[in-house]
Amino acid sequence: MSLPAITHCDAPEMALLTAALRKGAGELREDAASWPFEQLRQCAEAGVFEWFLDPRWGGRGWSNRDIMTGYLELSAACLTTTFIITQYMGACRRIATSGNDALAEELLPGLLNGSSFATVGISHLTTSRRHLKQPVLRATETEAGFVLDGYSPWCTGATQAEHVVLGATMEDGRELLLAAPMSLPGIEAQAPASLMALSASQTGAVRCDGVEVPRRYLLAGPMENVMHQGVGASPGGLQTSVLAAGLARAACRYMLAESEQRSELCTPAASLSRETERLCSDLLDASEPGADADQQRLRQRANSLVTRSTQAALGAAKGAGYIAGHPVGRWCREALFFLVWSCPQPVLSAHLCELAGVESLGD
Ligand SMILES: Cc1cc2nc3c(=O)[nH]c(=O)nc-3n(C[C@H](O)[C@H](O)[C@H](O)COP(=O)(O)OP(=O)(O)OC[C@H]3O[C@@H](n4cnc5c(N)ncnc54)[C@H](O)[C@@H]3O)c2cc1C
Repeated sequence: MSLPAITHCDAPEMALLTAALRKGAGELREDAASWPFEQLRQCAEAGVFEWFLDPRWGGRGWSNRDIMTGYLELSAACLTTTFIITQYMGACRRIATSGNDALAEELLPGLLNGSSFATVGISHLTTSRRHLKQPVLRATETEAGFVLDGYSPWCTGATQAEHVVLGATMEDGRELLLAAPMSLPGIEAQAPASLMALSASQTGAVRCDGVEVPRRYLLAGPMENVMHQGVGASPGGLQTSVLAAGLARAACRYMLAESEQRSELCTPAASLSRETERLCSDLLDASEPGADADQQRLRQRANSLVTRSTQAALGAAKGAGYIAGHPVGRWCREALFFLVWSCPQPVLSAHLCELAGVESLGD
């Protein structure tokens, strides 16, 4: 099926793409050998990858609010595809805003039209392996560039990528970001992990064994806290909350549809839907330039709501929803992803308090 370009987040063409993605989500195999080729092709055809970048780079330069509105629609339709897009576009935006224009000019045209794929392996600079004494991915500066040793623990779609935006740490503690070509000698995507959900995101580690990355692939650094510079998703940032809210919307829509026949579902369906729409509206307001919302508080609300609404949908679907292949079972497993994906410690602690029914976790 051929899809028309989506020129605005409220354009009617969005419904054609989301219908195709929703259908594909039900057919996507839940194993680490599958990959949503067709869904990503459909997104490329509808121009989704152009939303995120300035016209200078061939993008449409959508506002943050419009991008978040688009993400709400896509994640309600297929979380796996939408999650992959966040990592893909995270790589594209870091390349576009790096100031390394020669590299951006070389890589971005193919990335925007979907003929090549890039991803990020940066969580070890923010939310992963932070308790270890040694950085898991180390960089040494040479005349020609940087040599990488170690591994990046989490890289979505690394097996499919031509480039991975990798974060690494130097001996003096300064950090850097490189758009490392996956064709370099010594770099290898490990076999993707089999996950509770989202296995088709082909998420796994990237190992680097003396990988010589020429300086022309440098995006940022070396500097302290390289992740605090430039744009892109930050841990606990709005984008992760928006994807959770989109999934909550899918669960609420299911409950509302069921409640048309079953009066006992009317109150929970209406209440969860109101809460979801309030959260979506607050997230969109928070995405406006200059907005000063508490993003971690929004993430707590999103995490709580997505677990409650998907489990409520399972309750509504009863035993039929527990059979493999029913969408509500998948939504319940997908909702748990938000407890671990790019989840800052304060958000995780707040969720543990909610689960344990206590005010604080103590000292
Ligand atoms: C499906 C999926 C896809 C992802 N995709 C990407 C991606 O594309 N790019 C990216 O950059 N990131 C990605 N991430 C990473 C994600 O954003 C988080 O960084 C990650 O989930 C953090 O989990 P961790 O197990 O690495 O945390 P860690 O903190 O490393 O915890 C691992 C283990 O270490 C132990 N531990 C933790 N803290 C302590 C402590 N203080 N003392 C002693 N032991 C401790 C625990 O046993 C724990 O189980 C992905 C994650 C998932 C689940």
